[in-house]
Amino acid sequence: MVKLNANLKNLKKNYLFVDIQNKAKDYISKNPAAQLISMGIGDVTLPLSPVITKAMQDASREMNDAKNFRGYGPYEGYNFLREAISKKYLDYGVEVKAEEIYVSDGAKSDAANILDVLSSESTVLITDPVYPVYLDASVMSGHKIHYVSATEDNEFLPLPEENLKADIIYICSPNNPTGAVYNRAQLKRWVDFANINESLIIFDAAYEAFIESSDLPHSIFEIEGSRKCAIELCSFSKSAGFTGIRCAYMVIPKELKVGSENLGEVWLRRQSIKFNGVSYITQKAALAALSPEGKEETLKCVRYYKRNARILSEAIKELGFWYTGGENSPYIWFKGPQGMKSWELFDYLLEKANIVSTPGSGFGSNGEGFIRLSSFGSYENTLCAAQRLKSIKF
Ligand code: PLP
Repeated sequence: MVKLNANLKNLKKNYLFVDIQNKAKDYISKNPAAQLISMGIGDVTLPLSPVITKAMQDASREMNDAKNFRGYGPYEGYNFLREAISKKYLDYGVEVKAEEIYVSDGAKSDAANILDVLSSESTVLITDPVYPVYLDASVMSGHKIHYVSATEDNEFLPLPEENLKADIIYICSPNNPTGAVYNRAQLKRWVDFANINESLIIFDAAYEAFIESSDLPHSIFEIEGSRKCAIELCSFSKSAGFTGIRCAYMVIPKELKVGSENLGEVWLRRQSIKFNGVSYITQKAALAALSPEGKEETLKCVRYYKRNARILSEAIKELGFWYTGGENSPYIWFKGPQGMKSWELFDYLLEKANIVSTPGSGFGSNGEGFIRLSSFGSYENTLCAAQRLKSIKF
């Protein structure tokens, strides 16, 4: 008799975004004239840059011709894209070889799928609050989970504590949902911990394009010792507007071993079994995003969102609320008035400012009392939301 994966019953029901949507819908049905502003979404809104769409058009036209037709591509991605990603790392002073890059359809799938090749007897360390994918994927694969607390006291950047045990460590920097970013010294503490304990760091750099401060690392491979203990996930989703196109990559250093096995080889074996590669058209689009013109155009979009983030963080600062993020990240994470719960604050913002936010409690118990605002909306809506925020009484 067929049975479901028994781990599924351990997944917590999470209706966060459904509940948010329902509350917003309910509010609009009772207040049809209200102009709601959505600051809850984590999806980008600006259109693709012309250099990217042109590359996609060219790549599809190319395949009209029998001699240029492409079917299944390499599991690990076309070399032209892997070479371009490898070059991008040089901008950060990091040497990553093209052979160490595995192109995929998303950092989300990579973050979850890597657990396929890691024993479920390994303990996974995740932060509370957390990007829910790490948690849910670990639950589904039956891994044991340990939490490390991210709080106002550690500015939502927890460090390895004494007696901490962890085999697999998810680190997201710049962080979703908190917008907090680790500096080099802090990341070095995690790298040292991982090397001493023979742990593996899964470093999610999906928002690295938002980092401007030279003190903050874009990549875990900027940290000495990381090539022996870390892999990195990165994506074109937020840096180039690829959330609907789908292209990302994982970096696995050649020397990285789990037990006696080379992790890159094991990962490629997994990909060859369960994945048939990213389309040629998509990879050509990603290549265009990394061209000098593509970099310039996509950076304009990132700067547009960053201006929104600045406007929102200035409004929160004026209100006198504790916050993190908003500077090297598209998210602002703030704490409301003492004692106010996340959902209460959500309702209050909806009613008094017609702003749809994301309650921090949806990302973990330490998120209680916090709200996440996203800067991925339009400049005009962000300005309006900031004004509304400043005009309500708390
Ligand atoms: N990692 C983090 C931390 C994210 O917040 C997101 C999307 O919101 C992703 C990964 C997903 O990236 P992708 O679109 O490449 O799957």
